[in-house]
Parts: sequence; structure tokens; C-alpha cells
Amino acid sequence: MNTPSRKIEFNRPYMTGKELNYIAQAKFGNMLAGDGPFTKKCHHWLEARTQARKALLTHSCTAALEMCALLLDIGPGDEIIMPSFTFVSTANAFVLRGGVPVFVDIRRDTLNIDETRIEAAITSRTRAIVVVHYAGVACDMDAILDIAARHRLPVVEDAAQGVMSAYKGKALGSIGDLGAFSFHETKNVIAGEGGALLVNHPDFIQRAEIIREKGTDRSRFFRGEVDKYTWQDIGSSYLPGELTAAFLWAQFEEAESITEKRMNLWRSYHALCERLEADGVLRRPVVPEDCSHNAHMYYVLLRPGKRRQEVLDALRGQDIYAVFHYVPLHSSPGGKRFGRLGSTMEVTDTLSESLIRLPMWIGLTPEQQHRIVDALDKALA
Ligand SMILES: *Cc1c(COP(=O)(O)O)cnc(C)c1O
Repeated sequence: MNTPSRKIEFNRPYMTGKELNYIAQAKFGNMLAGDGPFTKKCHHWLEARTQARKALLTHSCTAALEMCALLLDIGPGDEIIMPSFTFVSTANAFVLRGGVPVFVDIRRDTLNIDETRIEAAITSRTRAIVVVHYAGVACDMDAILDIAARHRLPVVEDAAQGVMSAYKGKALGSIGDLGAFSFHETKNVIAGEGGALLVNHPDFIQRAEIIREKGTDRSRFFRGEVDKYTWQDIGSSYLPGELTAAFLWAQFEEAESITEKRMNLWRSYHALCERLEADGVLRRPVVPEDCSHNAHMYYVLLRPGKRRQEVLDALRGQDIYAVFHYVPLHSSPGGKRFGRLGSTMEVTDTLSESLIRLPMWIGLTPEQQHRIVDALDKALA
């Protein structure tokens, strides 16, 4: 018998307990617009944590990616190399400026962009390489930076899922010229909706501040560097208000413990799924040596031919809410309309159809994890 308490939802936002206190502090401080004390604390934390030259809070990772497209002066017909196996914002941010996403296949092990296939997708119109660190596990950044340097192309890291992850000791988001984080409710460290732009190449810092503040030099004015602020460049309003930053600050303070708790859940899943992998019914995630990850998600890859929807339905029958993603962008209506293929897509097509994400949230008990993997085992038998 299924009772409501047996339900295991896919995600449950985790609160540290201090979010409302900090929101109250912001309220009593009478600073509600953006770039107040909590935003500054968040910026300093991000800069200290990632070693980015400049961190700027945004409304979302989507907004941070849109800022990247503006900073790189992407215009009609400019090509941007990226994986097809990603969230729509990776592409849309550039399509908004007239850019053309050029989709490259992914690696079998990490599901990240296949760096060996990037170079063949570069043309005289290529303006940037956008990488996505899937599940918070890094792309092969050394190889990608090397290709980018040889072709003089900037690298943008969509590190939406990569907060607290690293590659060879460097924080994800701090390795390319620009990086974007997400603090969406479904990510590890959250603000409801929220994000950050990490500026690593110093040439972009001043313009990033201007673009984020409606095209004005308001940030410089507040620092006392200019005596009035005026319209300088194109821009929009990309900064979140203080209430969002106050919430986020409560999460930043606990970012280490959040990551540790998620890592414990991840390791439990990994141990529980070991036998299923040995039996050949599924494949577990692969984390290369150079990567320390943040346990953003736990996914399994079903054997080709296994019908994923049946497995998801069987889990749902047990009140377990697992999900799939992504529908690859190249096979979506928007991807066909705005993008083009930069390589064949065998790996993307095969693996995206066999991936299942298991419930992952702080508070999930060992008993629940057992139940989930048992149900998966039965569904696959
Ligand atoms: C979540 C996500 C985004 C979008 O983040 P928002 O903060 O919701 O805009 C972009 N790219 C990837 C890879 C994501 O996982």
C-alpha cells in the first residue's frame, strides 16, 4: 500500500536555517535593492572560494550566460561551439544575440563535451567555446584551453551545476575566460532563482559591471571612482535584490557542509549500485582522477534497449520520483531552428535516452536510498 509518507520526491530544497534571519536583517537595514551588504559578502565569498578575478551575482545562471554573450559581442551568424547535451539556456543566451550554436557530441565517460571533436567544428565564424560541467564533474579543461588558445577563442564555462567542484584543484567556473553559476532551487547551493558571473579574464571586468547595471557605470560611482554615473554601453538589469543575496549568504556559510552531506548520499548510491553495474544492467557515473565533484546528481545509464520510461513508471509505482534529462538540444525544435551540428551525435543520442537521475536531496535516509536502488533493481530485472 502506498501511503503519502512513502513518497520519495526527486528534489527537496535544503535550508540551512539562517535564511529568514538574514532576510530580516536586510529588511531592517533598509537595503533591499541590489549590491547591498549581503551581495558584497556573497561576492567576496565567491572570489575567495573560486579565485575568480571578479564575481557578480545575477538573477540566474541564464542571466550570467546572457552577460557572457554580450561581453563577447556575439552577433548574427557568429558560431558558438557547445554540447547538445545541456540545458536550453546554454544555447539560448547566445541565440538571443543572433549567435548559432554548433553542437558537438559528448564523451561516454563523463557526458561532457568531447574535446577531441571540438577542433573539427571550428570555422572562420566560430567566436567562442562554451563547455558544460555535467553533474558538477569537470570537462577536460587542459585540452579545451589548449584548443582555444591555438584558435584564439574565448572559453565560457557553464558551471551551473559546478559550485564547489574543482578540476586539478581549480574551482569550476574560474578556469575559462568567463564562468556562470546557478543557485536555482534544484542546484546544490540555492537562492530560489539566482546565479553568478565569474570574470576570470581581467579585460571583461569593467564592462561586466556596466552591462549588469543597465549599461551604466553605477558600480564605479558607488566606489567613488567617478562623481556621477551615466549611460556607458548596452546593458540590462542583471543584479538580484538583497533579499535573494541574504538567502544565498545563509547557504554560502554552509556550502562545505552541504557538499559533504551530498557527497555522503552520492557515495551511498555508488556503493548500492555497484552490484547492478557488475551484473551489467546499468552503468554508474565516472569521475576522472583530476576532478573533485560536488555530488550535484546521481545518475545511472541503462543498458541500450532497456526502455527507460518503463523503468521510470515502475519507480513511480513505488512512489519514487526519478527523472530523465536532457532532451538533446539538436533534436529539439529550437535546436533545429537556431543551431546546427558540429559533429555526429551518436553518444549524445544513445546516452541521453538511457539516463535516469535518482532522487538527490539532503535528508534522504539510508533506508530510502536502499528502497530506491531495490526498486531500480527490480524494474531492471
Ligand atoms: C540549471 C542550469 C542552467 C540554468 O540555470 P538558471 O539559474 O536556472 O538560469 C544552465 N545550464 C545548466 C547546465 C544548468 O544545469
